[in-house]
Amino acid sequence: MAFNLTRRKFLQSASLAAVALPLSKAIASETSVKRSALEAVGSFADETVVGGVCEMCFWRCQLVGKKRGDRLVKLEGNPKSIDNGTSICARGNAGVQLLYDPDRLKYPLKNVGERGDPKWKRISWEEALDECGAKLKEIKDKYGPQGLSMFPHGSTAKYPMHFMERTVGTHNVSEASFFQCRGIRDTAYIATIGKAPGEFVDMPNAKVILLLGGHFGENVHVSHIKRYIKGLQNGAKLIVVDPRYSASAAKSDVWVQIKPGTDTAFLLAIMNYLISNDKYDKDFIEEYGDGFEEFKKGIADWSLEKAAKECDIPAAQIKEVAELLASNAPNVSIHPGRHVSWYGNDFQRQRSLACLTGVLGAFYVKGGWVPAKNPKVGKVSWAKHDHGDEHNLNMNEEEEMLYPFTPPGTSTELIRDAALTGKPYPIKGCVIWGQNPIQTIPGQQKMKDVLKQMDFVMCVDVMPTDATMWADILLPEVSYLERYDYIKTGTQWDFADKQQQYISARMPLAAPMFERKDQVFITNEIAKRMGYEKDIPVQTVEEMVEKNLKVAGLSLAQLKKEDGIHIQDGKDPYTMPEDFEVLFYNEDIEDAGFPGVPTYIGVEQPPKGFARLLYGRVPVHTFNRTQNNVWLNKAMPDNPVWLNDETAAQIGLKDGDIVGFVNQDGIESRTTTTLKTTPGIRKDSVYMAHGYGSANPLMSVGINAGVDDQSLISKITIDPETGAHGMRNNFVKLIKDGKTLDIPATA
Ligand code: SF4
Repeated sequence: MAFNLTRRKFLQSASLAAVALPLSKAIASETSVKRSALEAVGSFADETVVGGVCEMCFWRCQLVGKKRGDRLVKLEGNPKSIDNGTSICARGNAGVQLLYDPDRLKYPLKNVGERGDPKWKRISWEEALDECGAKLKEIKDKYGPQGLSMFPHGSTAKYPMHFMERTVGTHNVSEASFFQCRGIRDTAYIATIGKAPGEFVDMPNAKVILLLGGHFGENVHVSHIKRYIKGLQNGAKLIVVDPRYSASAAKSDVWVQIKPGTDTAFLLAIMNYLISNDKYDKDFIEEYGDGFEEFKKGIADWSLEKAAKECDIPAAQIKEVAELLASNAPNVSIHPGRHVSWYGNDFQRQRSLACLTGVLGAFYVKGGWVPAKNPKVGKVSWAKHDHGDEHNLNMNEEEEMLYPFTPPGTSTELIRDAALTGKPYPIKGCVIWGQNPIQTIPGQQKMKDVLKQMDFVMCVDVMPTDATMWADILLPEVSYLERYDYIKTGTQWDFADKQQQYISARMPLAAPMFERKDQVFITNEIAKRMGYEKDIPVQTVEEMVEKNLKVAGLSLAQLKKEDGIHIQDGKDPYTMPEDFEVLFYNEDIEDAGFPGVPTYIGVEQPPKGFARLLYGRVPVHTFNRTQNNVWLNKAMPDNPVWLNDETAAQIGLKDGDIVGFVNQDGIESRTTTTLKTTPGIRKDSVYMAHGYGSANPLMSVGINAGVDDQSLISKITIDPETGAHGMRNNFVKLIKDGKTLDIPATA
């Protein structure tokens, strides 16, 4: 199986029109907003508007909006939805507070102060677009397209990203969702089964669910959580592998409190045990396996005892997990995970998860890994100009790929290194669209230095963030509740006997206020000013969505008639494709200089006096994006740090203490948070939720709330096959009342 990955293939495999409100009326409506957490509670609606698709996180639940006059007062799940149904999560409910957040960006702004310490001047759209177009063109003309970089995130960043990549011609685009989140998962599965796995595990029909680091309940994606809960209700046994007693661990039948970074050793020992004891699916492997003998030989020294020592867990527990999986195979959900950029040895771990699914014969079976078969919709693309691979930072002089299994785009670290050294060429322009690279990417100071040396930085966002402080020009975007946007398709098969597919498009539930604009308008206007007018694929975002829908025989008018969601018959999800195979041993990986059989690579352990910093999600926030939301801030105003209770007692700390941090590089947290002492975390680790501790003074609610975990992740680890970041290889001590406290050594 050749490894030939395009962005399109990667993404494929991964996976009420509002009447325009006159500006004066819109301003009157917005200025009447009071900052009360109770404001919308108890309100009644006189109209329901359909076609909303949530973006408080990126799961995209289907919504309806309840309106009173012009004002959106409540969001609910769309009753027609066969995905999230009428359910939405706390963040989804709090979308109305984002819509009317008085801190939202309202007008184009020009920074007349310093990057990082801005002074904002309101300017017209004409002036802002003229300056963005002229500056980006000047950099492109002087340094070539490769002199421009982009850090995009979210659905509105797709259209401008394709413009930058395909038409302008820079490779230097780095998506956080690939290089700091799930890219490794997808390329590891593509290298094993030829497809990115998504989160397509048939949990409602599973007899066992295995979560490796997955903390459902803290990480909430509504339809996924429903499938998980349904599986548990149907009697599935739950195995959770996590150094911490997470919400999922609390529901588990087996909690494996593994030593961080050793998960691959755990998985190899399970697979070796199953193979050695004849408890694997021989028929499946005979028919669909490739390289099984090399694989079997390659993992043969992973005894239960060896893994137990490495993982710091009992050998009997590894055996218990293996037996539980074997006795319930093939109806087992081996979850591929989502955020998997952990230790810089992650590609091998993700390959191991895919191989374990194969060893158990759990592909395309009830309860196993079953990919959605979604309906086809159209695509809108910018004209592709041929720019060759000459300036691809991932290619060395011999035209070999530095990171052969990289996700689409370019490794963030390659872009940052080139920008800072000017080698092999300068990178002097930066577009940040919906991403917050200051609080997403390890090495916060490095990111600031990268932005400092740019000739021009442009940011587009809905809210102020720590990244928008670094813009020269800051453009306000309409929110997901005020715009049309890409199509959402999906499949449902596991809640009913019939298989169904759906097609929906994001449609506005409220009219845009102030001077906010959408992605198509902003990108097209800049493209015109850069000389690319003839390459513009659509004139408006509505036209883009109509083109997408046309391929499916639909239109926006039709979709509105169908309450925002078109439902049609689906396909049998369990039918195995004819060419399906599992590469237990992958020769291409070996030819590229990496282990062709999944291999455990140990990671650095905490230095004396330090604990490993682990981080994760909470159900009421989506990282930093929701920190300024007044409802969500009330629900969880800071990110308490978990410390083992015995460790806390040893160093004189107690639950509720206010603490700060210093990391292995001497970097101190700017803010403090509360201490949560618990037996539910290993003594060699501390844990906190990601995304807190914003520094932007324009965020009147979120500023300085909790601690910015990213500021403490200064040591950079790179996954060698993919070029993605490993983000859990940093270590901290706690600070209380100005005193730094050593973490006692564990055995
Ligand atoms: S899971 Fe919650 S925040 Fe995410 S899309 Fe659904 S309702 Fe919105």
